[in-house]
Amino acid sequence: MEIINVFGNTYCIDTGMTYIPFYKLNEKEIVLLDSGYGNSEREGINMLIDDNGYRVYGIINSHAHIDHVGNNMFFKEKDKAIIAMTRLEAALCSSEESVKAYFGGHTLKSVRGHFETMISETDILIDSEDELLEMGGVVFKIIPTPGHSPAHISIITPDNVVYVGDTLISYEVMRGAKMPYAFILSVDFLSKKKLSTLNCEHFIVAHKGIYSNIENLVDDNIAFYKHRAQRVYDVINKPMTLEEILRAVICEFDINVKSIHKQRVINRMMCSFVDYLIEIEQLTAEIENGFIKYRQTEKETSV
Ligand SMILES: [Zn+2]
Repeated sequence: MEIINVFGNTYCIDTGMTYIPFYKLNEKEIVLLDSGYGNSEREGINMLIDDNGYRVYGIINSHAHIDHVGNNMFFKEKDKAIIAMTRLEAALCSSEESVKAYFGGHTLKSVRGHFETMISETDILIDSEDELLEMGGVVFKIIPTPGHSPAHISIITPDNVVYVGDTLISYEVMRGAKMPYAFILSVDFLSKKKLSTLNCEHFIVAHKGIYSNIENLVDDNIAFYKHRAQRVYDVINKPMTLEEILRAVICEFDINVKSIHKQRVINRMMCSFVDYLIEIEQLTAEIENGFIKYRQTEKETSV
């Protein structure tokens, strides 16, 4: 792990997997933008912060996914860090029950086993109309970029550097990602496009890149997700239940599913593509003998 100076007082921790940006308030205190993975990244992040003599004054979270909020409670306990998140995302990760409600399909035991570090206590709730957030005497701009998660935000530091969280993925991640995730794909596309209207010095993508211009990246991200949706569409070559689609998708995308947890995660990712295909009317859902079956929508033939 290492620290990269992005611009002015805006820095990034490179964990290998992820960029975790931070803003230096003074020689000692920093505001983290997201806190990384609790299990695999905690030790490294904490060591880097200690070695530099920093205290985490606060954390502003882009969204409540486990690889972005995983060290919230750790730094809250260690440094009394103040945690800020959108009202909805804060609610989603506020308890075991809320995490279970958010992820659906997981038992409470499985939530405890896999999502424990996601549970977070939030001090400052960001409302959808809030455009600015003051923390440690400096002001961050908040740009709503929902879609990847229900109330995802991008955060602009006082150096005019924007952290876009998971609204975009880098070219490297696109090359490796079999099934990228979005909560609502069509909403995520609008947020991606919104980012290209920002006039910022630099754009930090969580997984993982720093760009001074993102126009091509936005277009390529949208094309990448649409191409994945097309491949899901193509495997549905007859009326299928969700489970049948999942089986076909696992085969088509050559995904290794060796645990119940992984199956649930992949299923959740796939369902967002199925939802999107229904939304754009490429798929039609029908009930057949008590089962929902999905089929390619018949195209009207012009006479
Ligand atoms: Zn995420």
